[in-house]
Amino acid sequence: MSDAAELLVRSNALRQRALARTPGGVHSNVRLAGPQVFIDHARGAWLYDVDGVNYVDYLLGQGPNFLGHAPDDVTDAVSEACGRGLIFGGQHELEVKASETVCEALGWADMVRFGVSGTESVQAALRLARGATGRTKVVRFEGHYHGWLDNVLMADGDDGWGVASAGQVAGHLDDFLLLPWNDSVTLTEALDRYHDEIAAVIMEPVMINAGVIEPRPGYLETARALCSEYGIVLIFDEVISGFRVGLSGAAGRYGVLPDLATYGKAMAGGWPVSALAGRSELMELFGNGKVNHSGTFNGSVMAMAATHATVSHLIENPPYATITSHGSALMDGLRDLGRSHDLPLRVAGLPMAFHVSFGDAEVSDYRSLQQLDLGRYARLAPELVAHGLWVAGRGVWYVSAQHGPEELDAALTRFDKTLTDWA
Ligand code: PMP
Repeated sequence: MSDAAELLVRSNALRQRALARTPGGVHSNVRLAGPQVFIDHARGAWLYDVDGVNYVDYLLGQGPNFLGHAPDDVTDAVSEACGRGLIFGGQHELEVKASETVCEALGWADMVRFGVSGTESVQAALRLARGATGRTKVVRFEGHYHGWLDNVLMADGDDGWGVASAGQVAGHLDDFLLLPWNDSVTLTEALDRYHDEIAAVIMEPVMINAGVIEPRPGYLETARALCSEYGIVLIFDEVISGFRVGLSGAAGRYGVLPDLATYGKAMAGGWPVSALAGRSELMELFGNGKVNHSGTFNGSVMAMAATHATVSHLIENPPYATITSHGSALMDGLRDLGRSHDLPLRVAGLPMAFHVSFGDAEVSDYRSLQQLDLGRYARLAPELVAHGLWVAGRGVWYVSAQHGPEELDAALTRFDKTLTDWA
């Protein structure tokens, strides 16, 4: 397996064709740094490439395949629904059923508007908060990802945080106030001082993208209390945490309710669909036309069928205990392997989404995360892929409902072999 690159004859041929017609050979820049392997099909927790090599999948399509790949109830619902037409330019019953099911699962939200990508639903949330408050500035946090558009994409460069891409209009970031996360003191100071200008506070309530970091006890409560006091809209970006860290996402897990929250990924079993959910007094601003939110493909038949089937599955057949047990055993197993190979492997986070890196540090935010040797893990990741573990260089591993004892055994055996060969 360590000579996997030589095995990838068909993948390499497809890669050459892809490079001729697609910049970088990929359709999302996130995948430029990923494995250049072409997948033939996926089932359960496994990916199978075009050369017949299999991988235990801990990337889950960057998160969506929470129920495993192509869950039968979701693909059946989509096939059945799209037999009646793909998009109507009019309302249909599955939109109603999907909205009701999402609100039932979340528990705290009155209403929902569907979109296509997490990026878009974040934009809808920001516009709604600004429309509701008449204020412009938004507080956000270092290392939190909210999509790829000009006003939210940020990178940590040599001169500090700023634009992450050529062509990005730097001025679009000016309306944001960037703070370190998980620090009640800086948040309190900023909101005490600038609250008259601040429309919203947006955060990943459990910081997953950069590395999996939980909120400190009391931090979300402080944010909630300050936002309530100053009439600021609290937005949880739950595109990754939603439906994953629990049926009602981080809001339910940590018991702190936002005014608005965005969802995507795990909500629809792999179908591209996102949601903005919230309290009705805010959401009704879309309904009365004061705030615009549009999209040709919003509420498409397949998206609504996939959302309704996935969220119904999560309500009726919750996979959280199975996922927690696999994730915990895997985290323990990886730690044991780190010790037996005498490596400072660090495995931290939640069983359903955890972070693997090297080094040791007290991690509570983006800056403290940088004390770890993230580069060393980024160099290990391609070796793990070559040994049949589908993971990304960022170090975040996701666990699905289809990861069981067979996958655990394969994952630990393959991780062990990788460390042996890498030494
Ligand atoms: N917000 C968060 C927290 C995310 O993790 C992501 C995607 N990784 C997005 C927004 C953007 O979602 P999408 O890629 O679907 O546009």
